[in-house]
Amino acid sequence: MTFVGTLISALLVWLAVSSTGNLTIRELENTGQARLALYDSSLRAAIDRYRYLPYVVARHHQVIEAILKQGTAHIANLYLQRVNERSGAAALYILDRTGQTVASSNWNTPDSFVGEDYSFRPYFNQSIAGSEGFFFGIGVTTGRAGLFISNPIRQDGEAIGVVVVKLELDELEQNWQEGGETVFVADADGVITLTSRGDWKYRTVSPLSDQDRDRIVRNRQYSGRELTSLDVGRQLAKGSGIVTISSQRFLFDSKPIRGSDWRIYYLTSMDLVTDRQGAVMLIAIIGGGMIILVILFLRERELKLASQREAREFAHIQALNTRLEEEITERRRTEDELRGTQNELVQAGKLAALGQMSAAIAHEINQPITAIRTFCASAKLMIERGKTEQLDQNIRQISSLTERMGAITGQLKTFSRKSTGVLEPVDLKIALDNALQLLSPQLESEECTLERHELNTPLIVHADLVRIEQICVNIIRNALDAMESSPTKRIRIDLTTNDDDVIMRIADTGQGMNDETLALLFDPFFTTKDPGQGVGLGLSVTYGIVRDFGGTIKAYNSASGGACFEVRLPLLKGKTT
Ligand code: ADP
Repeated sequence: MTFVGTLISALLVWLAVSSTGNLTIRELENTGQARLALYDSSLRAAIDRYRYLPYVVARHHQVIEAILKQGTAHIANLYLQRVNERSGAAALYILDRTGQTVASSNWNTPDSFVGEDYSFRPYFNQSIAGSEGFFFGIGVTTGRAGLFISNPIRQDGEAIGVVVVKLELDELEQNWQEGGETVFVADADGVITLTSRGDWKYRTVSPLSDQDRDRIVRNRQYSGRELTSLDVGRQLAKGSGIVTISSQRFLFDSKPIRGSDWRIYYLTSMDLVTDRQGAVMLIAIIGGGMIILVILFLRERELKLASQREAREFAHIQALNTRLEEEITERRRTEDELRGTQNELVQAGKLAALGQMSAAIAHEINQPITAIRTFCASAKLMIERGKTEQLDQNIRQISSLTERMGAITGQLKTFSRKSTGVLEPVDLKIALDNALQLLSPQLESEECTLERHELNTPLIVHADLVRIEQICVNIIRNALDAMESSPTKRIRIDLTTNDDDVIMRIADTGQGMNDETLALLFDPFFTTKDPGQGVGLGLSVTYGIVRDFGGTIKAYNSASGGACFEVRLPLLKGKTT
């Protein structure tokens, strides 16, 4: 953005500077044209004042006589002196047909032209040939520069002599110099004859050819002058444009002076253009700088806002992070609590099972006690009657009954054992054996058939024996409950394995599960049983245990009706118990 701003500013500066330059140049051109016209007309006015003079003088009888008759020159001298004084010209004189001065207005001065031969001057040749002569040169007698205008003196249509008026344009030149402008007149050869710049006088606008230089020397036009070029090549010859003279640049315009082969030039210094361009450039640069400053300011503000926004977002993210961390900590705590609760529930579940089993157990234990009591009474009678030989059988039966009671209490002891929480290789078959042993009184009293299909090899999982037993007990107890009113009570247990898992399927012949039950089965406190019968914790505890051991559990209705529970636990390879 800053780069684009700089580019636009630079472009604006360039446009402002170049259009200012163009406008100023146009303005200067217009002024130059007007000034040129003014200088041209003033010069022409100065010349035209005298232009008629040789024409009129050439027709004066005293002048004609001076040419024709010897001894009349003095009359002509006086006449010329008088007219010259009136006109204000520098000199007025007449030449005979050989170019010799016959009479002159300055006859009585040390610089008198009388007797001088001017036949080498081009104006003499032009006028003796019958036309007007127009010549600028340095006077060979006076050494002063001037404009010579000549006209033929005629008799019977033939040129018998020449009248010449010399004008010194010093005053005009003086005025130009005082005007302070740069203006000059160049003759047909490009020699600067009149100028407001003294140092340019007799310089040439372009280098002179050798031929021209020879001719000028012959005419003694600018005798004693070097006529060096202004050293500007042919630039001035173009008529108008820009020229560099002595490392100063000028805008120039020129026009031919009517009635002569001269050309007048008006030059304007380009300093004004440069000055104006400089001023405009300064203003434009300041403007451009301000634009860049504004852009920088806006950019700075944008950056500041962006960084504030970022800071806000960062703070927001930090706050979120903190909240997340808090939530994680809270979750961990809840998880720990849940784990604790789960352990409690496992224990509670066991106790509940124990409660339910106690009736069956009481019944189981009552029977052997009654039997033992009967055996004891009959043994007492045998001893009284002296039939001691039959005592042995009684005692063996009593012993077997106590063994059975011992087994029952043993199972209860195992069941009430609390998990150690330490994971170790456990053979699922042994866990199942233990669970079935625990549940055997119930299985028997319910007259439930048990089918087991399993591999001969141990099926080792990385778990805790007591909790695996708990899984089996919970599922089998539920199966027994579900088959309470079923005509056929059968539980089929399959133990298989694939490469990764040990799979245990426990299927019953109960009423199966409806969709709602299937969806909510593992939720804590979901139960379809009567109050006092179930609390809805068995399967949710089972689910938690299976998950803890890295396994999965699912339930579905088997094709033959009845429910099937499938537990998968990671197989611990290469281990045996
Ligand atoms: P509870 O046994 O205390 O009801 P559970 O979590 O063990 O709690 O069981 C939840 C529910 O799942 C039971 O109430 C029962 O509706 C259903 N259920 C569990 N096992 C079976 C099964 N084998 N057949 C049909 N329903 C079952």
